Amino acid sequence: MRAVDIIARKRDGEELSSEELKFFVEGFTRGDIPDYQASAWCMAVFLRGMTPAEVTALTLHMANSGDTLDLHAIAPFVVDKHSTGGVGDKTSLVVAPLVASQNLPVGKMSGRGLGFSGGTIDKLESIKGFKVSLSTEEFMEMLGRHGIVISGQSADLAPADGKFYALRDVTATVESLPLIAASIMSKKIAAGADAIVLDVKVGRGAFMATEADAEALAGIMVQIGRGVGRKVAAVIADMNQPLGNAVGNALEVKEAIETLHGAGPADFRDHCLTVAGKMVELAGKAPELEAAKAMLARALDNGTAWTKFVEWITAQGGERAVLEQPELLPQASLVETVAAPRSGFISAIDAAEVGKTGVMLGGGRAKKGDSIDYSVGLVHHAKVGDQVAQGAPLLTIHANSAGALAAARERLLAAITWSQEPVSPPVHIRKIIG
Ligand code: URA
Repeated sequence: MRAVDIIARKRDGEELSSEELKFFVEGFTRGDIPDYQASAWCMAVFLRGMTPAEVTALTLHMANSGDTLDLHAIAPFVVDKHSTGGVGDKTSLVVAPLVASQNLPVGKMSGRGLGFSGGTIDKLESIKGFKVSLSTEEFMEMLGRHGIVISGQSADLAPADGKFYALRDVTATVESLPLIAASIMSKKIAAGADAIVLDVKVGRGAFMATEADAEALAGIMVQIGRGVGRKVAAVIADMNQPLGNAVGNALEVKEAIETLHGAGPADFRDHCLTVAGKMVELAGKAPELEAAKAMLARALDNGTAWTKFVEWITAQGGERAVLEQPELLPQASLVETVAAPRSGFISAIDAAEVGKTGVMLGGGRAKKGDSIDYSVGLVHHAKVGDQVAQGAPLLTIHANSAGALAAARERLLAAITWSQEPVSPPVHIRKIIG
């Protein structure tokens, strides 16, 4: 078998066999197939798509590219969640400790920023000392001792995804249903959780632009997970405007901290309660979603979730002082609050533009391995449906150069659409599957 023939067959829209996919995934993971061939193959998949049989085979070969964990010796039932990617999506930072605070172990492998969407691992790295690279032993030890762990991609678990993920980020091949499904489900299968909630985003700031695409992605991921004996549900949520108010690594950590103190933006809090609620429900700890959400809301409001967050972050090496004084997180040198240029109701905030502006400020990567600036980003003061008076604070930009700040101001103002008539806020949770 030759990589070039496999690329050509996919370029021509043919269905690859499980053996061909195994050859490609294993060869790329070992380093025998170089980045340029893997990039061409990703683009061929992006353009030609894959059959359900190909997606399932690709996922399983990626999951088997490293260790696959059996966590049952440590915990009888472990839950996990994964987002398909969005702008301002800091959900894992709240949901993981929130669920773990209910004595339900959470073991999770997360990713870095991808395209215009942020990544949990980059966000966590903005906390001084936090260790994202864990060996399999360290992952298991954290889970056993603290009932919570989030690690980055390691050489041990689904290493194929780590390599494809970094390549897709910079080759414009992120928004591909089969590549997203295989990326997410390979990590989930390798990390060994018994129940998985998929947080599928749809809209301008998501990789799936239409509800039909989001449902198709959710459907194939649920099918793959159930096929290997896991309990799986999917929450399909709006991502036309950013989630919550903050976009940017350290700024999002700060917003997650506020939410864990029982405050935080209403859309983000409800999103977290829904995703966490489904995890609790799948684990059989609540009879139905509303009861689970009520139980979890109490844990946000009475400090239980916050206590678990501090235990988790410090156990993975993060500095406690940063959590207690978020002003110790990386800070940008230039902070400017932009006033509303007019009065009216906000009818849209283009999340993709906001995400790309965050990347342009330095919060994401342009090339593989680029370092990122944790301090930059923006905070919205008004969201879709809000009425704003001319001159009132609209958003605050955090930048490290005057040029980037001016460019961000222009892009962000252009990303907001106004109406003279009242506008209803969007329905955030669109559908729940399973
Ligand atoms: N999250 C992932 O882990 N992979 C993707 O491809 C998209 C979102």
